[in-house]
Amino acid sequence: MGSTKNDQQVHQAWFKCEKCGNIIYYREFKEVLDICQSCSYHYPLTPQRWIDCIFDEDSFEELDRQIASVDILGFAEQINYSNKLRELRSKFEQNDAIITGTVELDSQTAYVGITDSRFLMGSMGSVVGEKISRIFEYAHDAGCPVITITTSGGGARMHEGAISLMQMVKTSQAVRKYRSNGGLYISILANPTMAGVMASFAALGDIIIAEPKALIGFTGPRVIEQTIKQSLPPGFQTSEFMLQHGFVDMIVERKGMRSMLTKLVDYLWL
Ligand SMILES: [Zn+2]
Repeated sequence: MGSTKNDQQVHQAWFKCEKCGNIIYYREFKEVLDICQSCSYHYPLTPQRWIDCIFDEDSFEELDRQIASVDILGFAEQINYSNKLRELRSKFEQNDAIITGTVELDSQTAYVGITDSRFLMGSMGSVVGEKISRIFEYAHDAGCPVITITTSGGGARMHEGAISLMQMVKTSQAVRKYRSNGGLYISILANPTMAGVMASFAALGDIIIAEPKALIGFTGPRVIEQTIKQSLPPGFQTSEFMLQHGFVDMIVERKGMRSMLTKLVDYLWL
């Protein structure tokens, strides 16, 4: 997924929807939270925009901002990982594909982790794994709920090899420990949430909320079809399909996300 047309064309008044080709008026697009009004495609939001949309104004306090990946493998197969990290860190002024911190939601403190699809497709390497694990530990100590919002087309980050795969186990263990001590974890699956992120912490919420029409799954549909040599059912790996099959608990529009989260936390936590 990476950067989207809306990020790239920030200074243009109009742009073409990358899904349906219809013309979108940029200012209107921002007012409706980056959703194409013709085909209702949900463009990925940056962590900061999610924070602005959902949580109490100016309540976000970032944690562990300094943690940064090291190029352990000297990875230079398709891209030079060290150079790429340097470029992305400077471009987005953050160290990796996640922002974590505390927020207030209708005056209730919660710990949040929000992945950023602009940074190596929101993939999970050592930093995403460590920061996710830490918020569950902090939330346990502080007695607070945890909310994650994931947008990841990348899953486990190949540039960090087995270290990335280990993060799936590490984050899953952190969630389990937190939940077994009575914690409340709400996982929001934004478009797309795939692969190693979906196959670990993002699928382990007490409540799992998906955006409408989000792509959710492990491997992409084309690869599955090629492997099993069969066609997949219509709508496979969309939020609506996952809801029908009991994998997610509810589908919530972006504009209704704050109010739904407030109700859930109020009902399940206080
Ligand atoms: Zn569209």
